[in-house]
Amino acid sequence: MGKTKLHVEILRHTLEPEELIAMAAKLCYSSADIDGLKEGVSKKDQAPFVGKLMNLGHLSPVEHASFTFGIEGVSRSLLAQITRHRLASFSVKSQRYVGEVRDRKEDGVFNYIIPPSIEALGEDAIAEYDRQMEQMQQWYDGWVERLGNTGEKSNQDARFVLPNASETKMIVTMNIRELLHFFELRCCERAQWEIRALATEMLRQVKDIAPYLFQQAGPGCLKGSCPEDKMTCGKMNEVRELFKNL
Ligand SMILES: Cc1cc2nc3c(=O)[nH]c(=O)nc-3n(C[C@H](O)[C@H](O)[C@H](O)COP(=O)(O)OP(=O)(O)OC[C@H]3O[C@@H](n4cnc5c(N)ncnc54)[C@H](O)[C@@H]3O)c2cc1C
Repeated sequence: MGKTKLHVEILRHTLEPEELIAMAAKLCYSSADIDGLKEGVSKKDQAPFVGKLMNLGHLSPVEHASFTFGIEGVSRSLLAQITRHRLASFSVKSQRYVGEVRDRKEDGVFNYIIPPSIEALGEDAIAEYDRQMEQMQQWYDGWVERLGNTGEKSNQDARFVLPNASETKMIVTMNIRELLHFFELRCCERAQWEIRALATEMLRQVKDIAPYLFQQAGPGCLKGSCPEDKMTCGKMNEVRELFKNL
């Protein structure tokens, strides 16, 4: 048992996504057959063409390429938010198996996330938070015992006393159209800090692989006025600068 931090990495992605997307877009406007398209796109760098496509907002071709991320060190609270994105695919660590760690005589069964706002309150606040997590660990252990310590079956009900802070791990796949939508909502200052940190790191990583596809990606205000209207964070210039240099 202990505190843990966000870790995200790209596990796999569509090979040469910009070439594939250029091929799909060119098919829409060209009389060439598939062989002709393949030959055409492999002859020159397709990145500028793809950049133009993104500016036009012709987005169906970008659905052909996807990225798969390994994510850990995030809370169940984040899980509730990210899984609202219906066009993404998820595999999530089951809490019914958390008891397996304890069986191996490790110190506790659940890792947890500490919000930066609590961390910023200083050592006393952090110690109190840690004690509360330890208390929940004990409640959990107590219920596992009272439910017969039968593994999966007892864990599945004992976990009801675990907090939103409990760590989870997942593998998530999104196509590029969904990623652009996800970044628009979740990189915004109005999004909750943990999912914003995750989305921003995901964007930084995909930009390394496909810079033209993601050159305009980020919160809604990168493309024009703030879509949050009266709820605006009021920091548009700072936000734009941050994502330009990500
Ligand atoms: C700042 C913020 C605060 C939020 N607060 C709350 C809250 O208080 N309570 C709450 O319940 N949720 C809240 N949400 C979640 C929000 O309501 C959405 O569920 C979440 O952002 C997923 O967005 P989406 O449906 O656009 O995306 P996705 O599910 O990723 O879908 C992408 C797009 O596909 C299309 N689409 C997908 N499914 C359908 C469908 N069935 N029918 C038609 N079109 C579809 C839509 O155009 C959609 O925008 C919040 C989100 C944000 C960013």
